[in-house]
Amino acid sequence: MNKTELLGRWTREKSEELYGIKNWGAGYFSISDKGEVLISPYKDNDTASISLMDIISGVRERGLDMPVLLRFENLLDSQISFLNNSFADAMKKLNYKGEYRGVYPIKVNQQQQVVEEVTKFGQRYHHGLEVGSKAELVAALSEMKDKEACLICNGYKDEEFIDLGLYAIKMGFKLFFVIEIPGELDIVIERSQALGIKPNIGIRIKLSAKAGGHWTESGGDRSIFGLNMSQVISLVDLLKEKNMLGSLRLLHYHLGSQIPNIRDIRSAVLEAARVYAELVKEGAPMGYLDLGGGLAVDYDGSNTNYTNSRNYTVEEYCTDIVEAVMSTLDSCDVPHPTIVTESGRTTVAYYSVLLFNVLDVEKFEEYGDVPDKLDENIAEQVKNLFDVNKNLSLKNIQECYNDALYYRDEIRDMFKHGRISLRDRAFSEKIFWNTINQIAKEKMKLKNPPPDLEDIESAIADIYYCNFSVFQSIPDSWAIDQLFPIMPVHRLLELPKRNAVIADITCDCDGKIDHFIDLHDVRSTLPLHELNGDDYYLGVFLVGAYQETLGDLHNLFGDTNVVSVRINPDGSYDLVKEIHGDSVADVLSYVEYDPKDMLIHFREKAEEAVRDGLISASDRREIMQAYDNGLRGYTYYER
Ligand SMILES: *Cc1c(COP(=O)(O)O)cnc(C)c1O
Repeated sequence: MNKTELLGRWTREKSEELYGIKNWGAGYFSISDKGEVLISPYKDNDTASISLMDIISGVRERGLDMPVLLRFENLLDSQISFLNNSFADAMKKLNYKGEYRGVYPIKVNQQQQVVEEVTKFGQRYHHGLEVGSKAELVAALSEMKDKEACLICNGYKDEEFIDLGLYAIKMGFKLFFVIEIPGELDIVIERSQALGIKPNIGIRIKLSAKAGGHWTESGGDRSIFGLNMSQVISLVDLLKEKNMLGSLRLLHYHLGSQIPNIRDIRSAVLEAARVYAELVKEGAPMGYLDLGGGLAVDYDGSNTNYTNSRNYTVEEYCTDIVEAVMSTLDSCDVPHPTIVTESGRTTVAYYSVLLFNVLDVEKFEEYGDVPDKLDENIAEQVKNLFDVNKNLSLKNIQECYNDALYYRDEIRDMFKHGRISLRDRAFSEKIFWNTINQIAKEKMKLKNPPPDLEDIESAIADIYYCNFSVFQSIPDSWAIDQLFPIMPVHRLLELPKRNAVIADITCDCDGKIDHFIDLHDVRSTLPLHELNGDDYYLGVFLVGAYQETLGDLHNLFGDTNVVSVRINPDGSYDLVKEIHGDSVADVLSYVEYDPKDMLIHFREKAEEAVRDGLISASDRREIMQAYDNGLRGYTYYER
């Protein structure tokens, strides 16, 4: 019996606690009476909940294979409302005189459908867009309809970029050029004079405040972008000299993404608000204070200042910002500006769920039982390992562990030098894993297990081989060890008896997940259910931000199928859109193969084989069909 079994009958509540779904789910994700993960987009309407298993069968019936990325447009809608309402509430409560205007940074998820939905759902709040490149500006201008919403232009800007932005201003867009490096201002001045269009200018500043967390190199004195204070003063002087100070409308900074500590956020706002006040005193009209991104997502649900979490709520974030801006500006009699934030992560993280099936499992105890007696002639080292196995007890587990490792390594070494057969080495491995399994079981009885044995569970954890690519679908899990909530989406009324790590199908040693969320720590294994012959589905949650376009074609696993779901208030749902994932031909063409040429080349080889008498002409037809099917196929494991 293991620890969880000792706790008695398994229930939905136990699954909720084990996987922490209430902590990270933000009210959107829960477990149903049937033990399946439910999505509930409306916080005040329980009937509008859909089981992910229903969606999986709907998707399957339509002929789409796993892995599938689901996008729930209601969750995007809901997050945009939540952010805007939270700022509105905070401003009302504190009697703030300005407004809030959010913008969505396109880079966080550039997919056309995502940007389209942001502008659609954002319209009632005049929620705008932020762009960091020419391509993003071109995309934004095609998606944006609301002239009240802000369009913030960050990033390097060349003449083409600036001309396009100036024309957009002339057409009535509320577009701001944010000056990131001093030289940029000259082009803005020159082009606006040449075209006779008055620009809206913003300045990005470097703050002395620096935040903790993974992504926060963007703040601080050494951050790549932004002007330091003496550059800010030179810029003001240049604008004055050109008689263009009237165009200076906005102050911006970006401290970095996923800022876990509210104190860092607050001190940055205080510093920026001071700079804002000084610019007003210099005579600039200003009006907009853009605090960038950074509003974090609580991926592990711990509500702490750990990198994968945050020690504040969205409401607290808004209140703290509004209060910090007010307190600074009121003390120097400067009118309250429109507060802009560029929250990307919080806006889209909840929106997408990655689903995949488990293909196979490797269990380390399945190397088999150890016999009672040994062959007389077997090598001494194997005998020693055997004795360790037979003499193991609670009192000597540490010693047995060290010995087992020692003899295993010796036996491996002997094998390399030809002093032991493959059969005997295989036999010794069976004894070794049996020993490690026993040690892990004994260890659970100890109150204070020896520190050396801390990771023994992960050493004997099952490997669940799953139908997806870490590199393509959750690149930050690989690149920066970011944690995402992962759990089975069904069978949640059953005890998950296995402890597992997850391997993807890239066969790359980095293509695995062996860090999982935990309330107080990071777990090295994930409790999962034993496979029972039916499909077993896992979900990776909160993957809407940054994962889609950062993904790469490692081992040529391409984009997954994407299905957009709309959940209706009566509890029905529509599959609004489906986008087929890349085919093998698609991914090959990304790396400059031409599928048509490939077919020709392969056909020539097949014809040669016919000529050489290796295959018949009708074999050739079947072989060509197989090659063609391969080209058309999904890059993942198909049924
Ligand atoms: C990436 C980025 C953002 C988005 O930050 P989040 O933490 O995802 O909200 C906002 N502004 C700028 C300038 C960025 O580079």
